[in-house]
Amino acid sequence: MTFSDLGLNSVFVNAVEEKGYAKPTPIQEKVIPWVLKGKDILASAQTGTGKTAGFTLPLLQRLSKQKHHPSRSVRALILTPTRELASQVYENVKEYSVFSDLKSTVVYGGVNQKPQVRKIRSGIDVLVATPGRLIDLHSQRIIHFDKIEILVLDEADRMLDMGFHREISKIIGLLPNSRQNLLFSATFSSDIKGLAQNILRHPVNIDTNPKNSTVEAINQFVYKIDKSRKAEFIIKLIKEGAWDQVLVFTRTKHGANNLCKKMKASDINAMAIHGNKSQTARTNALAGFKDGAVNVLVATDIAARGIDIPLLPHVVNFELPNIPEDYVHRIGRTGRAGSNGEAVSLVSVDEYPYLEDIQKLISFKIPSEIPEGFPLDPRITAPGPKKKTRSRPRSSKRSRKRGGKRR
Ligand code: AMP
Repeated sequence: MTFSDLGLNSVFVNAVEEKGYAKPTPIQEKVIPWVLKGKDILASAQTGTGKTAGFTLPLLQRLSKQKHHPSRSVRALILTPTRELASQVYENVKEYSVFSDLKSTVVYGGVNQKPQVRKIRSGIDVLVATPGRLIDLHSQRIIHFDKIEILVLDEADRMLDMGFHREISKIIGLLPNSRQNLLFSATFSSDIKGLAQNILRHPVNIDTNPKNSTVEAINQFVYKIDKSRKAEFIIKLIKEGAWDQVLVFTRTKHGANNLCKKMKASDINAMAIHGNKSQTARTNALAGFKDGAVNVLVATDIAARGIDIPLLPHVVNFELPNIPEDYVHRIGRTGRAGSNGEAVSLVSVDEYPYLEDIQKLISFKIPSEIPEGFPLDPRITAPGPKKKTRSRPRSSKRSRKRGGKRR
């Protein structure tokens, strides 16, 4: 199967060739023909599957078939949960439209709006946006929604987790009724199903099950270790393995900073990326990681979401996430586009219940060992039977104010 077999014309096939993609990924094979036909889509897809090209390429081709309006108002809106993801999707939109005359831009909060406003006023076809800034610019009458024909909700589950339900409903209420809707989500809670029911019309359901694709392509391993010795152990792993590109997940921003400090003290080029860092600091950390100046990126889940680094060899869970789906998201950062990666988790006794939940979700018992030289302290014991309360936290205005939005 080639990209042209899927119905893409030379303008977009050439752009894909320029990127060096040999053939479409499974999700691209499934999504592209339906989007070209103008159908609504409900797709289950992890980051790392090539989903961005899956919706961007056919969307651009559809727009390129029609003349833009004299006002050049936005015709396609791509909503993403985080600014990192927004910038990366925008980069892709730019790359895939390089041989067309389509214009695009990105808007997100936390930065001065002036350059964004200038770009919008110059006229664009595709807008990538995070919900807050989008509403803000709309209420200032800088962005108009009346010409929007295609709406993409990318990582819709994350948007809801981050408390954007009201913003999404508001935006949808302001869009023209007749439009094509594409909804991408890694997980399908009842909230996502409700959202899908509200906005999609006779959608085509597309499932690229991560259990069979992403997860199985990754070598997973668990080291059982005391919490107090995790930093020492990860430093040893990185140094002895001469790992030069590692993404490390911590549960909290504070934890990310702390670990980063310890790594630096051991002469490891590490940087932290999380919601308390400025946009410039995050962009610099990511650029350094991509070009090899930074060897270890220590990230929280939300900050790492959507980071676009192909062929990441190592992902380490310094702490397990308490939401099992997040484990799948995290390790999806490795083993992408067909190449094998390694996902290592450092698990202390108190995290055993999380490990159990994860193994249940992926239907796989992850091999484990107690590393040599790091015996478990027998005085620390596993927690009793877990309470049934660990569902995804509902974000509220308050939790967002406390930092829920920018973990
Ligand atoms: P995504 O899931 O959209 O975040 O894409 C994950 C990574 O796969 C990105 O680095 C893309 O550039 C890359 N990618 C997308 N489509 C293909 C393809 N057909 N072949 C190889 N790599 C691809």
